[in-house]
Amino acid sequence: MNTQHAPSPDSQTLPSGRDLTLAWHLRLPDSLEAAFGQQFRDSCARLVPGATILMVTLYMVAFAVEHLVDPETTAASWRPRLLAIMATVALWALTRMGPVWRPFLQPAVAAMALIMAGVHIFLGVTVDHALANTYFYICFLAILLMGSLFRIQLHWALPTSLLILAALAVSLFGFSRFSHAEALVIWSFTLSGAIMSLFGQYFFERLERRLFLSDRVLNLHRSELRAANLSLESQATEDGLTGTINRRGMDQRLDSLLHKMHHQARGAPDSIAVLLFDIDYFKQYNDTYGHQAGDDCLRQVADVPKTMVQRATDFVARYGGEEFVVVLGGTRLRDALVFAERMRSRVERLGLPHSKSPRSVITISVGVACTTAGGAGSTELIHQADQALYQAKGAGRNCIACVEDDGSLRVITS
Ligand code: GH3
Ligand code: MG
Ligand code: MG
Repeated sequence: MNTQHAPSPDSQTLPSGRDLTLAWHLRLPDSLEAAFGQQFRDSCARLVPGATILMVTLYMVAFAVEHLVDPETTAASWRPRLLAIMATVALWALTRMGPVWRPFLQPAVAAMALIMAGVHIFLGVTVDHALANTYFYICFLAILLMGSLFRIQLHWALPTSLLILAALAVSLFGFSRFSHAEALVIWSFTLSGAIMSLFGQYFFERLERRLFLSDRVLNLHRSELRAANLSLESQATEDGLTGTINRRGMDQRLDSLLHKMHHQARGAPDSIAVLLFDIDYFKQYNDTYGHQAGDDCLRQVADVPKTMVQRATDFVARYGGEEFVVVLGGTRLRDALVFAERMRSRVERLGLPHSKSPRSVITISVGVACTTAGGAGSTELIHQADQALYQAKGAGRNCIACVEDDGSLRVITS
C-alpha cells in the first residue's frame, strides 16, 4: 500500500498563526529570512513608482512656493536640488529594470535618502537666508520617506538614519551660522522625528514578518492536507495485494475515459480496448501450493501488464479474484490483440510452476473487446470482453479470444 503521502506525525505539532513569536531583532532563520527579504523587496518595488511621483511632485510644489517667496534663494540652490530629484528618478528607473535589480532596491533607497539629506545639509550651511534652516528639516523627511513612503527594511533604514543624524550634527554644530542653542533645537527636532519614524517602522516590519510566517504555516498545513488527500484517494482506488487499481477505481477511470471519447473531448482517445484476463486453473494452484503462494503468484502475474502499459490513459485493474482488466486508450482491435498475445506469452515465460496445469506453468486466458466513439459503454464493453474470455477458456485456455467489429467471437491460437 502506498503510504508515502501520508501526513507526518509532525503535522499535529505545526504551530498555528497565534503561536508564532518573533525575536526582538526580528531576524528569521536564514532560509526564511531570504524568502521574506524577497517578498519585502517585491512589495517595496511596487510602492516605489507611486512614492517617487508623490515625492517629486511635493518637492516641486515646495520649490515653486519658495521661488515665489524668495527667487534669489531658489536661483542659488536649484542645481544641488536637481541632484536630489535625479537620485529619486534614478531609483524609479531601477524598479523599471526588472526583478534582476531588486536586490539593489533597498541600498538605492538608502542612497537616495543620503543624497537628499546631504544636498540639503549643504544648502542649509551655504545659503545665507533666514529660512535656510528649513533645509535641515529635510533630513527628518528623508528618514521618514525611507520607512513610511518607500518601506525599506529597518536594517537599511536604521544605519542610514544614524548617518544622516551624524552628518546633521557635524554640520549644525561645526559649520552653520546657528548658535549652539538653535542648532540643538533643530537637531533634537530631527532626532525625535527620526525616533518616532523608526519606531513605527519597527512595528510595521514586525507585523509584516508575522504575516509572512502565518502564511508559511498555512501553506504547510495546506500541502500536508493535499498530500493526505492524495494518499487517501489512492488508497481508496488501489488494490492492496497487487498494487493495481481496484474495481472501484477501474469503474471510475473507464467511465471517465469512455465519456471523454464519446463526447470527443480534447485529447481523448479515438478508440478504447479492454483486455479481461483470468489465471488458468488457479483454484488447483491454491489447493496445491497454498493460499500464500497463490497471493504471490497473483502479484507476479499482475506485474506483467503493469510493466507493459505506457500511455497516461492506460491502466491495469484487478477486476476481482484472479481476474484482471487492462484498458488501453487509443488502441484498435489489431494492436490490442498484439498486446494480449505479448502479455499471455510473458506470463507463460514467467515459468511459475503449476503441476495441475497441462502446461506445468501458470498461464492466462484473455478476452479482448474494443469500442470507438459512439460505440459500447463500459458495462457492454466489459460484458463483451467477458464473453470472449469465456470463449478462450472453452477453447482450452492459455489463449486469446476477441469480439470482432461485427460482434462475432473469434479465438486466436498462438
Ligand atoms: P479457470 O481456468 O476456469 O479460470 O479455473 P480456476 O481454477 O482459475 O477457476 P476460477 O477462476 O473460478 O478460480 C478462482 C480462484 O481464485 C478461486 C479462489 O480460491 C482464487 N482466488 C481469488 N482471489 C484470490 C486471492 O486473493 N488470493 C488467492 N490466493 N486466491 C484467490
Ligand atoms: Mg476466475
Ligand atoms: Mg481462473
